[in-house]
Amino acid sequence: MNGIPQPVQVICKVPVVGPPGLPHTRRGRNSDPVTVSIETTPVPSADADAGEVRRRQLPKRRAWRPATELAVDLGTANTLVLVKGEGVVLNEPSVAAVDQATGNIMGIGLDAKRMLGRTPDGILAVRPMKDGVIANFEVAEKMLRHFLRLVIDRTIFKVKPTVIVCVPSGITEVERRAVRDSARSAGVKRLLMVAEPMAAAIGVGLPVDTPVGSMVIDIGGGTTNIAVIALGGIVCDASIRTGGDELDQAIVQFMRKNYSLLIGEPTAERIKIKLGSAVPLDREEEMDVKGRDLVSGLPKTVRVDSSGVRDAIQEPVSRIVNAVRRALEMTPPELASDILERGIVLTGGGSLIRGLDMLLMDETGLPVRVDEDPLTSVVRGTGRILDDYSKYGNVLTT
Ligand code: ADP
Ligand code: MG
Repeated sequence: MNGIPQPVQVICKVPVVGPPGLPHTRRGRNSDPVTVSIETTPVPSADADAGEVRRRQLPKRRAWRPATELAVDLGTANTLVLVKGEGVVLNEPSVAAVDQATGNIMGIGLDAKRMLGRTPDGILAVRPMKDGVIANFEVAEKMLRHFLRLVIDRTIFKVKPTVIVCVPSGITEVERRAVRDSARSAGVKRLLMVAEPMAAAIGVGLPVDTPVGSMVIDIGGGTTNIAVIALGGIVCDASIRTGGDELDQAIVQFMRKNYSLLIGEPTAERIKIKLGSAVPLDREEEMDVKGRDLVSGLPKTVRVDSSGVRDAIQEPVSRIVNAVRRALEMTPPELASDILERGIVLTGGGSLIRGLDMLLMDETGLPVRVDEDPLTSVVRGTGRILDDYSKYGNVLTT
């Protein structure tokens, strides 16, 4: 169909071999190959700085060619834009720096994220998509318009593109209107929407249009979304307001309590990415962390190890595990047996916590695998819809 790679069925009985440094003795592991189809191949970052470099190295748009069809993932942590035929062309944090006095936007995306925790009085770094919903309409609208213009305006020929935006599955009509308005003012001719869990499932290559049930868990910045999909529809959909960002906050508290050290969320995120794990590691790791001493008020460096960080994030991690259990309990029995056979696919940046797949395997007894490039699954799934309307058109709404 259109010469486009078809989503290949993923045999979930076979979890992909996890990150290095993890014990290989847990239940449900063997070494058969897993087949997954991927369209873009950006490598997930090993740390936050590498993430920034990767963002800057995204393929340049062929400027002479207008971007006529775009896919947008408006996430709580990151916004991604894919141009049909080119791949992901924009990947920026969903953050805006706002001047509180005037309401003016001082920076959007990476520039604004760099300001997090460093802004002078009066300038606030805002995450307009907090908790999986549009928390701040005005800023969300400006941010979406800014990102779309970055992609659309870079061409000589001004054409009005068709855009598919992924939206949270529980989005309200008012929120839809905000998305529509900002897209229109950015020059979008036709706007379509797709529920995020559906886009994620298509992106990770699940057979969403068959009667077989598939479970996809998207652990984003603000939320974890657990969905069972069959016959092109979302059968069960559960969402909790715990995602990767809550792990950062847990690390901030941990550093304060155990080391009397004040750190900001960007530092906590770096600790999580470097040391975070859900199960004991073969070789525990350490790193130096800089912050401000609570007692003396002076800058201080302490050495932190991965087992301490694991304890720190244990609570939010178990909230995610419990939500998965509850979702499984709510799944209709026929679909539950499909999931038992085919397993669960994890996606979203939060699924990159080492050993989370193994913890979920142990806790549910089901096969679990992490998508190859979990930070882009949603936008890749949306890109596939652009590629093959005849197959996926029925998942779109206006
Ligand atoms: P959203 O869809 O809400 O924008 P993403 O899927 O982009 O969220 O994931 C962002 C979350 O993933 C953040 O909380 C970030 O800290 C976390 N994250 C990104 N990379 C890693 C990693 N290597 N290990 C652990 N967490 C990560
Ligand atoms: Mg997301």
